Amino acid sequence: MSTSPTTLAQTPTHPHEHDEHCIFCKIVAGTIPSRKVYEDDDLLAFHDINPWAPIHFLIIPKAHIASMAQLTPSNEALMGKIMVKAGELALQEGAVPYPEGGFRTVVNTGRHGGQEVHHLHVHVLAGERPWQKI
Ligand code: 5GP
Ligand code: ZN
Repeated sequence: MSTSPTTLAQTPTHPHEHDEHCIFCKIVAGTIPSRKVYEDDDLLAFHDINPWAPIHFLIIPKAHIASMAQLTPSNEALMGKIMVKAGELALQEGAVPYPEGGFRTVVNTGRHGGQEVHHLHVHVLAGERPWQKI
């Protein structure tokens, strides 16, 4: 199967594309509203409901992947796409450019990692400090 650099959605990497009990799958489906930052076939980015910083949004794969612990080599392109989007969307949302400004990316995994929502998400935080969390 061929993949283009911008559309990976056809890559059959996830045994469970959608989890009916997952809050972020409901955001992807639109049954729970969100303030969207960006969307394409593979990814959704939306503002965190409880921001820690002046700019705080989440980037998620549309397919349900519970956490980073479930990633396999088949997800390399998807995760690369998320990381490339992080900086691009941070600037779009008003982050001051690197190096004076910049942004922080956080991925919590599992209970010890502080993960509360079990659908993989990358936090992107930016804006003037101090922030509510480090
Ligand atoms: P975690 O602790 O799992 O890394 O982070 C989960 C994040 O999701 C938290 O920062 C929390 O504020 C955010 N969150 C939880 N429920 C919702 C929701 O329904 N909508 C939005 N926009 N964010 C949510
Ligand atoms: Zn999900």
